[in-house]
Amino acid sequence: MIKQRIGHGYDLHRLEPGLPLIVGGVKFEHDRGCAAHSDGDVVYHAVTDAILGALGQDDIGQLFPDNDPKWKGAHSRVFMQEAVKLMREAGYTLGNIDITVILERPKLSPHKAAMKNNLADLLGCDLSQVNLKGKTHEQVDALGENRAISCHVVVLLNAVDTK
Ligand code: MG
Repeated sequence: MIKQRIGHGYDLHRLEPGLPLIVGGVKFEHDRGCAAHSDGDVVYHAVTDAILGALGQDDIGQLFPDNDPKWKGAHSRVFMQEAVKLMREAGYTLGNIDITVILERPKLSPHKAAMKNNLADLLGCDLSQVNLKGKTHEQVDALGENRAISCHVVVLLNAVDTK
């Protein structure tokens, strides 16, 4: 069994007026939100894909197809819970996770603690294993023009039984 597995996840959603903006399970006050089939949580989607990637499994779009009404309006925590379940079934536990959210505004910092709590809860790990950073896109391109939000994630999984 491979002792450690690394995974990368990336997600981007378009921002449009009149929609809620949910990031890392936290609702942000903003003039626009995510156009998406589910609740459009880029952080939960990218974390899910990072874990699935580390496991060498299908990606989020294959596991939860957006043409399946079952997932319409689904809270993205469901996707993460499924990825964590697959991680445990495969015999792995979370080592650490590093998350970068890119959005021009609003600021991420007032919400960081709540987001990290949500992530540690869902991942079943300690807060010290979760790192979260926010960056702007320097007013460049869709991300920098408040027309999109994206997230990059790197995760390390450790085998529970390393014999
Ligand atoms: Mg997504």
